[in-house]
Amino acid sequence: MAGADYNTSRWVEDKTLLLEWADEKWPEILNKRSVENDRAYHLIENTLQVLESLLYGTALNPKCPLNCASACCFFSEKEGVKIPLELSKLKEISEYVKNTGGKTEDYLELKPVAELPLIMKSQVENPTPGYEYVTKRHGLDMVYLLKTNPDFIAAGFTENIPLVSPGRKMRLDETHKACVFLTKDGLCSLHEKGIKPIVCTTYMCFTSYALNLLYLMGYLTDESLKGNDFELLNKAAVKADEIFSLKEFQEIDVKRDDAFKDLVSAFISGAGLDEKTVTFEKASEKYYEKRRYLLEPVMLILGA
Ligand code: SF4
Ligand code: SF4
Repeated sequence: MAGADYNTSRWVEDKTLLLEWADEKWPEILNKRSVENDRAYHLIENTLQVLESLLYGTALNPKCPLNCASACCFFSEKEGVKIPLELSKLKEISEYVKNTGGKTEDYLELKPVAELPLIMKSQVENPTPGYEYVTKRHGLDMVYLLKTNPDFIAAGFTENIPLVSPGRKMRLDETHKACVFLTKDGLCSLHEKGIKPIVCTTYMCFTSYALNLLYLMGYLTDESLKGNDFELLNKAAVKADEIFSLKEFQEIDVKRDDAFKDLVSAFISGAGLDEKTVTFEKASEKYYEKRRYLLEPVMLILGA
């Protein structure tokens, strides 16, 4: 349900709920499929496929479309905030390190869970199922952390960086250090080998999150994103977030979702299906037209 604090991330949460709602109905939908309701079936299926790939690219497998030389791969040595490594990746990383002639201990550090910052402690103690971090060593709960590189952050890099939330830039200064796997070109040497620690595949700064959503919606291209400087990208991301929170935006969104739910219910019950199909098609047409119009200021900022 849309509310006053609606924005890009709430939109994604909202659509995830819609997808879950439709997933629950899916066995019934399949059960009712017939030659007569083929058009409505494909409409429902296509709508869900589009939504699924959008949510996959924002929540489950986000790929940052920006080019900031990986500001999120720098960590504060003072606070000891680094990347915790899930145990299932340990062997792959050790092999990779050995193949490059290095020693695992130069890349990974074992640290007691008790010494971790609170936010990381809660993350490693409550992992996504299948991604355990904590191992016992000398009777203590320990976690492997990716080490940082002794190289200091490049001069000037801290100025042109993304936002972590509207109005708040990433906190980076010259004492931050790069993850040991970050190359001088701002690339991840692990990712290049197909090894992706889960934390690295789920984190996105605010700027990237908001613009990635518009990118996946088809409004922004690689050219419009990669060539721009972060003052503009940050401005565009804040604007996108503001537009998602507009009453007008929420109204068209809710209208289309309601029309979709009505269509699915009619498909299952068989009552008024033709009418609900037409209503949803019209709501969709208006929705895409208005959404594009409302989001136009973001494209203008980026010259897209
Ligand atoms: S998620 Fe943000 S900080 Fe990380 S690489 Fe992308 S733009 Fe940079
Ligand atoms: S492993 Fe790669 S993506 Fe993760 S922090 Fe290090 S350099 Fe960045």
